[in-house]
Amino acid sequence: MRLQLKVLISAEDIARRVQELGREITADYQGRSLMIIGILKGAVVFMSDLIRQISVPLEVDFMAISSYGEATETSGVVQLLKDLDRPIEGKHVLIVEDIIDTGLTLSYLYQLLQSRNPATLKTAVLLDKPERRRTDFTPDYVGFTIPDKFVIGYGLDYNHMHRELPYVGVLEN
Ligand code: 5GP
Repeated sequence: MRLQLKVLISAEDIARRVQELGREITADYQGRSLMIIGILKGAVVFMSDLIRQISVPLEVDFMAISSYGEATETSGVVQLLKDLDRPIEGKHVLIVEDIIDTGLTLSYLYQLLQSRNPATLKTAVLLDKPERRRTDFTPDYVGFTIPDKFVIGYGLDYNHMHRELPYVGVLEN
């Protein structure tokens, strides 16, 4: 099956924005070190580009979650599949996620990590779909605000595939 995709955000535009976010994060965390937590699997592409644009000392860790529901919908029920390898108490923690849609996933993760007493806790997302928000969660760093469309590529999957696309695309029907 060939996917009919329209480019929503080009690889060049992503690279430019990720560089800007990296500069902003570097300025905000000057004199501190960072613990970057990537949410598997969608955030891996964004995270690997973003950390190379940040120039404060940092360590990385990963969490994996799965949300029950239809392939293109979040049910709000989140299951923790993989926890962090190391404690985050007293650390400056930045959660890196591919996309915020209803906000249920990030608000769950935020509360979970906040309960472990980090020094600070912030969130960075590449994409924000504010139209479908069901919580009052606002990420600290946002790459692009996009309309309520199902997007694929740059880490985001369609039935577990197509994460490798270098751009963010929209399915064309
Ligand atoms: P939320 O809990 O904010 O509704 O959903 C966040 C998660 O839903 C993301 O981490 C991602 O896995 C999935 N998601 C939401 N919108 C999209 C989309 O447009 N494309 C893809 N591939 N996944 C999405």
